[in-house]
Amino acid sequence: MNRQIITDPQTGEKSCRCFKRCGGCQLQETYAEQIQRKQEKAERMLSKFAKVRPILPMDEPYYYRCKVQNVYGRGRGGELISGIFQSTGQKMVAVDDCMLEDRRAAPIVQTLKKLMHDLKIQPYDLRTGSGLLRHTLIRTSVSTGEVMLVLVTASAVLPAKKHLVSALLEAHPELTTIVQNIAPDGLPLMLGERSITLAGKGYIEDVLCGCRFRISPASFYQVNPVQTEKLYAFAVKAAEIKKGVTVIDAYCGTGTIGMICAKHGADVIGVELNRSACRDAAENAKRNQLANIRFCNEDAGKFMQRMAKEGESCDVLLMDPPRAGASPAFLRAAAAMKPQRIVYVSCKIETLERDLIQLTRSGYRVTDIQPVDMFPHTTGIETVCVLQRKQTEQHRGRNPRK
Ligand code: SAH
Repeated sequence: MNRQIITDPQTGEKSCRCFKRCGGCQLQETYAEQIQRKQEKAERMLSKFAKVRPILPMDEPYYYRCKVQNVYGRGRGGELISGIFQSTGQKMVAVDDCMLEDRRAAPIVQTLKKLMHDLKIQPYDLRTGSGLLRHTLIRTSVSTGEVMLVLVTASAVLPAKKHLVSALLEAHPELTTIVQNIAPDGLPLMLGERSITLAGKGYIEDVLCGCRFRISPASFYQVNPVQTEKLYAFAVKAAEIKKGVTVIDAYCGTGTIGMICAKHGADVIGVELNRSACRDAAENAKRNQLANIRFCNEDAGKFMQRMAKEGESCDVLLMDPPRAGASPAFLRAAAAMKPQRIVYVSCKIETLERDLIQLTRSGYRVTDIQPVDMFPHTTGIETVCVLQRKQTEQHRGRNPRK
């Protein structure tokens, strides 16, 4: 195994020899400098809406990723290598030792490479379309200790399957489940429609904020559990959940934030486009014995437009869209439904800024902004933004001092 991480003996700060070539990290300055850089960016982009709170940093900003993806190929000497795609283009960089990933992942990848060699399992070649193993996905849980390995293959035929699985389990008793996912085509690192459970239950479970979540291979789940607890705790507090408050959790994934609100007594509808995540969400409601939450497998924009058209409303809209942010139609429908509060969880500050411009023109004002450092050593900034509905003219007329 090639050691790539260098630790400064004085400060304990880590750096990586693959920096710049590999697409994993984008920042290689001290963690304090990274935090300052992110705070400045958040203030530059968002302080026109409201005061930006100091970003919540990590105490130990390494080995935080609970989702690890690896691609496989051949090195110059024909040897089997595993790694990550380059920051530019589709070429892979051999990485054996990554300072962002859960430490349990790399040894599993090393064993798999050895077994691939022994069992003559070829890595998939993107250019020629030959070979079998496209990539692997490892998901881990710190709270339950469970670990899942997903072997993503170009076809369903996996040679010496039984031997491969038993050898992996023997070398890594920490592996609680192994899944084969078949992705005959599609973009690199994507999963296919079909999964076959080779060992264990086919998913892992994780506990966050007192709720238990099932996570299937294709479901979205936040990659940094330590910071996710801080993020969700802030979002749920900002939502001012009390018994009977009605909540829409748009872009809900496996139902995480909505489930925590339901646990505090809210009546929740979650909306999610990904079928696997939505199935997990419904299972998760059962696991947590919550009857006051249900899920809709639909595009969040269409769902909101339908609700607005039917004259439906809610007290709180929680929204956690992907990097592209929400569509103008989603935001128009959201404003038309007039929730008292909107709690916007964003993983891309540029689209957050764009969407806040639309929401603040449609009857809302921003009252709180909390950035959270979910992705140390990358430029990503996660932000929770709280919006309150402005009082209408009619309300102001009744109580002019307000
Ligand atoms: N709130 C969840 C998930 C956030 S990630 C959590 O914290 O775990 C964003 C989620 O939005 C993903 O699960 C993705 O599948 C979903 N998504 C993407 N586009 C969507 C759309 N148009 N409508 C509904 N959900 C969508």
